[in-house]
Amino acid sequence: METVKTPLSAPYGSVYCELTSYHFGKPGGPKAYIQAALHADEVPAMLVAQELRKRLQALDAAGKVTGEVILVPAANPIGLAQVINERPFGRFDLSNGINFNRGYPHYFEQLKTRLLGQLGSNAEANVRTIRRHLRELVALWQPTSDATTLKKALLEMAIDADVVLDMHCENEGELHLYVGTALCEIAQPLSKLMGACAVLHTSGAGGEPFDEACSRLWWDLAEHFGPDYPIPSACMAATVELRGEVSVSYELAARDAQAIIGYLHVRGMLDAGAVTVPEHGCAPTPLEGVQRLDAPHAGMLVYLKEVGDKVRAGEVIADLIDPVSGDTTHLKSEVDGVLFTRLSHRYIIRGMNVAKIAGAEPFRSGSLLSL
Ligand SMILES: [Zn+2]
Repeated sequence: METVKTPLSAPYGSVYCELTSYHFGKPGGPKAYIQAALHADEVPAMLVAQELRKRLQALDAAGKVTGEVILVPAANPIGLAQVINERPFGRFDLSNGINFNRGYPHYFEQLKTRLLGQLGSNAEANVRTIRRHLRELVALWQPTSDATTLKKALLEMAIDADVVLDMHCENEGELHLYVGTALCEIAQPLSKLMGACAVLHTSGAGGEPFDEACSRLWWDLAEHFGPDYPIPSACMAATVELRGEVSVSYELAARDAQAIIGYLHVRGMLDAGAVTVPEHGCAPTPLEGVQRLDAPHAGMLVYLKEVGDKVRAGEVIADLIDPVSGDTTHLKSEVDGVLFTRLSHRYIIRGMNVAKIAGAEPFRSGSLLSL
């Protein structure tokens, strides 16, 4: 295992941040990139990373990491230092309010021009050519803040990987994945090994999250260049939501790490011995089919359903109760699906998101992710 420290802070800063990455195996073969807690206060991801580090170190020492695996155990040192009134605050950059998991570059337009005359009928050769240009494009990025220096450092390690796992968690939630529609099939072993309750897919979520910076360009390029120039979806990038922010236990972390090791085995990055992928898993559903249940007014929140529950349209998910009059609004699902996130607060104000339900029928469009 090699440890790499990347400085994030410019000279004359009052604080100094650096990013640590662990590197296993060697470059040249199948490559996986895994990062934890880009939203810095999402602790389950960081504990899973520690369990992964132990397993990867042991496999590497035994010569069983046959490809390359990069693990970033705490992907957001800037956000880790942010606390407001004793509450960790790691989702947004406090200096400008920007979500650390939004605003990554989509290199499709530059690649369209750069690749003219450079592609052929060999898909593997095309992948190599596109990755070479991608590495060059990321290297050209000129960050103007510590946060964009961080984003560039992360993307530099991930942009040419075959597998990218961006580990997060919800406020309260059951384990679920976000992937590109083109990646549903290749993500299935991961979903089954991890026991995901939902796999939410889209060809473009809006907001430019990290996983799409690594994956979306592939299907956009394939569509643009057409069948004479075969371009596979060469990067299986997924945002992995590891339940809720207090779903922090050694047992869960060990289980999740073992599932990820299993997927890396299936994808040829390492040899973990016998790995059995469960036969059954959840059917992927469109991100456009997720119903957001938002609070129509302020009130006390009492949930009647648990995360992971299958619900029917018309069923009450939660009651919202005025704390003075006792007047109660029943918040109902409008779709059949799986309740996969809830809120951890129990007094909320108008407009806050109470729950999300993964339905099978698309009905939303536009920007599909939370702020
Ligand atoms: Zn997150």
